[in-house]
Amino acid sequence: MRLLDTIVAPATPPGEGGIGIVRVSGPSATDLLAVVFRGKTHPADMVSHHLYLGHLLNRDHQRVDEVLAVLMRAPRSYTGEDVVEVHCHGGVQILRSVLDLFLEAGARIADPGEFTLRAFLNGRLDLAQAEAVIEVIRARSERASRVALDQLEGQLSRQIYRFSDQIKEALALVEAHIDFPDDEVGTLDLGELAAPIRELARDMSVLANSFDVGRALREGISILILGRPNVGKSSLMNAILGESRAIVTEFAGTTRDTLEEQLVLAGFPVRLVDAAGVRDTDDPIEREGVQRAKDKAAAADLVLLVVDGSAPLTEEDALALQLCQSEKTLLVINKSDQAQICDLGKLAAFTRQVAISAKYGPGLTALRSAIVDHLCRDAALSGGEGVVITERRHRDALLRAITALEAFQRTSAASEHLEFLAMDLREALAALGQVTGETTPDEILEQIFSRFCVGK
Ligand code: GDP
Repeated sequence: MRLLDTIVAPATPPGEGGIGIVRVSGPSATDLLAVVFRGKTHPADMVSHHLYLGHLLNRDHQRVDEVLAVLMRAPRSYTGEDVVEVHCHGGVQILRSVLDLFLEAGARIADPGEFTLRAFLNGRLDLAQAEAVIEVIRARSERASRVALDQLEGQLSRQIYRFSDQIKEALALVEAHIDFPDDEVGTLDLGELAAPIRELARDMSVLANSFDVGRALREGISILILGRPNVGKSSLMNAILGESRAIVTEFAGTTRDTLEEQLVLAGFPVRLVDAAGVRDTDDPIEREGVQRAKDKAAAADLVLLVVDGSAPLTEEDALALQLCQSEKTLLVINKSDQAQICDLGKLAAFTRQVAISAKYGPGLTALRSAIVDHLCRDAALSGGEGVVITERRHRDALLRAITALEAFQRTSAASEHLEFLAMDLREALAALGQVTGETTPDEILEQIFSRFCVGK
């Protein structure tokens, strides 16, 4: 990886804005600024982390823009190298011209994520922290951004280092007995060695399991509203959203296509989907809709199965019921404001039920809390405490480390050769090292940083 050259990229998104920022990082950042910047202070004399007003000039000494420039000297910068940021006017053409100035002066356009990659390579961030940068940027709820920020500030890494330290301690003990078998180190009590490792594996699996929450925070949760035409799905969607965005109609089967809305519930980003009215029909468009509803029910994290409490169950209701797995379905009995004649006995398979009136409001609060209960069915989900992992890669690394520690338990119980014990522990360490980046292969690093945007 090339760290000798100096890279440049816009740090703000393309488009118009109050200001646009161009970022430069590398050993010649100050020299490049000196080529393009004219102000009262020469870049070589700039105090680190101070803003200076001036102009950017092109080769013909024409003004390109009036700007504020800041120099952040190594190693106290995002990348750990000399970094220059130029705050110019936020226009597409201006940003392009400013970028061109630095390119002409000798900078190279940065690859996606290259600033963060450099921060990682220079030891400013470990890999888990670097990955958190993109999570902070992409977070879609306050809770998701809090988890990402914790990771950026090193909470996950510290936890991983704590695990590694304990394993290293055990490894040192085993190695001492390998190196000096008959010496004054005494005999190794394998039972005593194995007990804390067992506990460690348990702690590690708690962390690995937090991925369920992490995934939900990162990718969001999809909730599907399902039911035959006219039971009140659109009305329910509107009621949950608190405003009329879905189309409500008196005629059955007009909500043909699926409608999607985004909202935040209990800190989780949620995608609320109103499926096509499920009805048995020969109409190809409707059939297509039913098929899609089937697929969506299978993919959804939670299905709100809506029935009309004021009408007997129909064949179409039965069809909708068939599409749902009871463990991730919440039965919503709508139109509670009317006389209830629906045969609830047939719905007993769905243990979680809420009666509501989507049109008039009663039951909606209970429904919201039933949804939240479902989302937070694990204790870990509801608590804001504890480190949460959001990357599948981290979970897989933890699982590999746990497998190695389980092998260690078996090896120690069988009192096998100490060298085998040491191998298991080293394997666990290597797996953990992949989370923080000490043992992560280059191609994985490349893959991780290529997900970043340019300029980050
Ligand atoms: P969808 O086809 O399942 O999306 O159903 P809609 O939301 O379009 O509602 C169908 C009809 O039922 C409309 O006339 C709604 O006003 C009515 N409706 C929906 N919810 C309720 C309710 O809670 N009580 C009553 N009385 N009518 C409702």
